[in-house]
Amino acid sequence: MKTIEIHGQTGTSEIAVGESLENLEKYTGGTKKIIITDENLNRFYHKRFPPWDIIEIGTGEKIKTLETVEYIFKKLVELEIDRSCFIVGVGGGIVCDITGFAASTFMRGLPFGFVSTSLLSQVDAGVGGKNGVNFYGYKNMIGLFNQPNFVICDPGMLKTLPHKELLSGFAEVVKHAAIGSRELFAFLEKNFKKALALDGETLEKLVCESVTIKADVVRIDEKEKGERRKLNFGHTLGHALEKTAGLPHGEAVSLGMVFAAALSVKRNKLPLSEAERIRDLLEQIGLPTEISLDKEKILDALKKDKKREGDGLHFVLLESIGQAIIEKIPFQELEMAIHDLY
Ligand SMILES: [Zn+2]
Repeated sequence: MKTIEIHGQTGTSEIAVGESLENLEKYTGGTKKIIITDENLNRFYHKRFPPWDIIEIGTGEKIKTLETVEYIFKKLVELEIDRSCFIVGVGGGIVCDITGFAASTFMRGLPFGFVSTSLLSQVDAGVGGKNGVNFYGYKNMIGLFNQPNFVICDPGMLKTLPHKELLSGFAEVVKHAAIGSRELFAFLEKNFKKALALDGETLEKLVCESVTIKADVVRIDEKEKGERRKLNFGHTLGHALEKTAGLPHGEAVSLGMVFAAALSVKRNKLPLSEAERIRDLLEQIGLPTEISLDKEKILDALKKDKKREGDGLHFVLLESIGQAIIEKIPFQELEMAIHDLY
C-alpha cells in the first residue's frame, strides 16, 4: 500500500492506493457514520460494508442532479445527522461528485471521504477536491472545491468493473502520462496488456503515478487558475463529443487527446512521431481514435464551453510527451482543424 498526501487550501487529503475496503473504519472520525453508494455497488459490496446507515442512490450520469442531492439531504435529516457525523461515498466518479457536494453543503459542511470503486475515480474524480452536479444540460455547473479527508483506492474492487468503464479510466491514465510523465507513458506502452488483465502490481503503479501527477498539479493550482488547466488535455473537445455524440467520457477524451495532439503538430509544437505514439497507445488499449461527426454541432458545443474566453478557447497542447502547454486558439482555427482532421 502507498499513501499520497494532497495539501489543499480546504484541507489535506490522504489517498491510500492499494488499501482495502475492510479498513475503512480506521480512516473515519465522527460519532455516526453514513455510506452513500449506488444500488449496484450496494448489492455487490453490502456484506463488506461496516454496519453503518446506507443511503442508496441510482446509477448513471442522469442522476447527477440537484434532485438527488435533495433526496440525500432528506435522508440525512431523517437519520438525525448532526455535525459530528462522517459521510463516506463508495462508488465511481458520479457517486463521489454527488457525495462530496452533499457533504460539503449539508449543515455548512460535514467531514467526508471516498472509497473509489472505478479506475476513473481512482486516478481522477476522487482526487483534487472538485465536486458537484450537472444543471440545465451543463456538466458540473453547480459545485465547489473541497478536499475529501481520504480516498481509499482498493484495486480488488476494479475486478467487478465493466470493461468499458475500465477503458474510461485508462484514458485518464494516458492523459496524466501525456501531460506529466514520459516515463509513465513508456511504462504504459510496455505494460498495457498486463494492466488490461488487471494485474494488481501494474494497476497499483498506474494509479499511484497518476494520482501523484494530478496531486502535483492540484497542489500548485487547486482552484484551476492556470496549471490545473493542463488536466483538461483532451477534455475540451472531449466534453463537446460527450454532449453532442453521447459518447462515454473515456472514449470522448481519447478522441479529444488525438485531436489536441494533432493540433499541437499543426502548430509546430509537437513532433509528428509523438502524436503517433499517443494515437497508437490509445488504439492498442482499445480506445477510439477516429470518429465521423457532425462538425457544426461540435463547433457549436465548443463555443458554449464554460471556459470560453471571447473569440477562442484555451486549449491544452503538448510540446512533447510529458510536457503540456496552454494556448488560446481562436474558433476560426479550431474550425479549420476540425475540418482538416475529420
Ligand atoms: Zn476526465
